[in-house]
Amino acid sequence: MRSFSPRLAAKALWQMRIRKRPYVLSHGVNARCNLRCSFCQYWQEPGREMSKEEIFRMLDEASSFGIGVYNAWTAEPLLREDLPQILEHAKSRGLITGLVTNGLLLAKRAKELRDLDYLSVSVDGIKSYRELRGIGLENTLQGIRAAKRAGHEILINCVISSKNTGELEDLVHLAEKLGTWISFEPLHESAGISESVWRDLGIRDRSAHEKAVHRLMELKRSGAPIINSLTYLEMISTLKPKFKCHASDIILHVASDGSIENCRVQGQPLANVLGGLEEAWQASKKGREEIVRSCPGCLFFGYVENSLLYEFVPEVLRHYEWM
Ligand code: SF4
Repeated sequence: MRSFSPRLAAKALWQMRIRKRPYVLSHGVNARCNLRCSFCQYWQEPGREMSKEEIFRMLDEASSFGIGVYNAWTAEPLLREDLPQILEHAKSRGLITGLVTNGLLLAKRAKELRDLDYLSVSVDGIKSYRELRGIGLENTLQGIRAAKRAGHEILINCVISSKNTGELEDLVHLAEKLGTWISFEPLHESAGISESVWRDLGIRDRSAHEKAVHRLMELKRSGAPIINSLTYLEMISTLKPKFKCHASDIILHVASDGSIENCRVQGQPLANVLGGLEEAWQASKKGREEIVRSCPGCLFFGYVENSLLYEFVPEVLRHYEWM
């Protein structure tokens, strides 16, 4: 884990609390995927993708706007041949870079990702992986090992569902064995996916779920490489969001076609960065505020932990161990 940088923290706080601008640009860098997971809507309606030149322009504007982190994700970023150039461009503009991938192409491409600072790989199960993703885990594990050899710092990202409740501890041990970090978040039953999928995957045995998450808290206390704060883990053990959402104060969420969305759940397009990033940020302000006001909440770890950090919750400041 990189050490805490007071200079970086001050820069982020200045940008978010004083200038009232986001610090992270979360970008759906492409629209296609090489998996067909039943619980994911991104691959089902692939839309337009921004060209490399459009992304470069967005990154230039993001840097001038004071954004400090560029995170490339959805649908599967490694399907983009020009991803290394995009990361290189982000770095050249002073941005910290992150990538979220299913890991299938990592073994082939890890060495190309020279300008990547933070790598997250989705691994939702060991025995259940095939059932969840429709493919065996071995390719992804090979990818993680190749990325480790190439010097990358890695976070395994696990979505908790009914299929893997009994495997969470094994996943922590897998992370220990691989020399990676691990994060957990509960499945979000989003709109646009059939009811039967949620009946199959949704967390229905609340007691088993609570017990499994409390076990994660014990493991975290005893030094396991779980990045989530204890405050967050306690919250997801009950599956009840208890936080004031600051997602849109912190993260500028840009979809693959350049649309600004409030967050990955509230995905209605509010403006488009192709007409200028700052203009789109201003134009989407009212829409973002209204969405946050009426939202019943979610439990995505990035939104919750960052919202708690934004409010200086001490335990989260001490124990949320990523970035
Ligand atoms: S709480 Fe609502 S508005 Fe905030 S990130 Fe979650 S879904 Fe989006």
